[in-house]
Amino acid sequence: MAPPPHRHLVTGNQLGSIVPTPVYYNKLSKLVLSAEEMKMEGYKVTEIASGDLLRMRRCKLCRKRVTKQKNKKEKKNDSKKDGQDKEKSPADQQTGDRTTLPKSEVDSSQVSPQKDSLSSSGSSDNPPIKYVITIDAETEEVTVHTEPISEEAHAEREKAQNEKVKKKPTCQSHPGRVTYNKWTCCQKPGSSLGCVERDKHEAYDEDSVGRLEDEWKLYETPRFVRGARLAIALDCEMGVTMKGESELIRISAVDYFTGYVLLDTLVYPAVPMLHLNTRYSGVSWQMLNNALATRRCLVSREQARQQLWQFVGPDTIVMAHGGAADLLALRWIHRRMVDTFHVEGTHENPETGRSLKNLAAVRLNRRIQEGRRGHDSIEDAMACRELAHWYLEHLATPATEAAPATS
Ligand SMILES: [Zn+2]
Ligand SMILES: [Zn+2]
Repeated sequence: MAPPPHRHLVTGNQLGSIVPTPVYYNKLSKLVLSAEEMKMEGYKVTEIASGDLLRMRRCKLCRKRVTKQKNKKEKKNDSKKDGQDKEKSPADQQTGDRTTLPKSEVDSSQVSPQKDSLSSSGSSDNPPIKYVITIDAETEEVTVHTEPISEEAHAEREKAQNEKVKKKPTCQSHPGRVTYNKWTCCQKPGSSLGCVERDKHEAYDEDSVGRLEDEWKLYETPRFVRGARLAIALDCEMGVTMKGESELIRISAVDYFTGYVLLDTLVYPAVPMLHLNTRYSGVSWQMLNNALATRRCLVSREQARQQLWQFVGPDTIVMAHGGAADLLALRWIHRRMVDTFHVEGTHENPETGRSLKNLAAVRLNRRIQEGRRGHDSIEDAMACRELAHWYLEHLATPATEAAPATS
């Protein structure tokens, strides 16, 4: 069994405690996301359907999704990219920006027609020509005329064009691992494109629906919890599994009203990991191994979820900043969420950069996520809590409450 979590007052709590008056609690409840808003922000509100599970499969070589999916949530995440690192596809965090890769992720069939159309536009029927533009230095008059291109020059140009097309294979991967931010296969930096190229992705053979269902089974908050708090703030750190998925490696939660730390523990992942995203997560293998050796960590996301559930019942308000990823990493469905990322969007003057770091600076005049250790989930959970409190004090009161009382 896991040891009890540490409970102590964190120096980062600048807010002190908040008195849970009925008026305050009522205002806070108004920030809870509706079912519709939860879906919009990417939260899972039901079990993941088997069709969606199959679409979630990743290539075992490059770890990209095997099926191209540009759904609502992904578009949403694109707009969320502003500084919020964990919104990126997990495999891309260390392996760099893949936006230069072709969007077609199913197979190579989409590459060849493109190639054909390019070479035919190079005119196999008509004689190759080039456009020459001359500008008269005195009159500034522009004239355009055409000149035939030599066969050689034309062939060279066509070859270059074909190479350009060929340069975009569907699947680029590193067969090795990342250690000290270098790939073991080719010694290239962790952010480099794959050293092995293929024109097809390859899904894991063992990814049957049944297995995927086990891997992605989601659990609802238990009905009866003795120590359930009124409200908590939550933040998690994630690494990347060998399959390219996000995996929980640290969990932090604070009581919203008192500011006490309920849980701040490393989570030793129970699945094979590609890397811990140390630059962003602040969690290293040394930290994890030490914690495991001294039995000061939880093991697996299941344990982490159970530990958190000591404080969370169905009525507990859980706040997080872009919390969909945190809840999914915990395989958890909770229906009383306050998402400070979402709340910022409802502000009358919303910030364009909605990262927690930026909002802490702009709204709270507070610096977080400084230094080289990356994110600190307890610091982030504290900042999220203070941000929620800030909104309660600064957001316009809903019209129903602002209406003058009639007598
Ligand atoms: Zn490599
Ligand atoms: Zn691939």
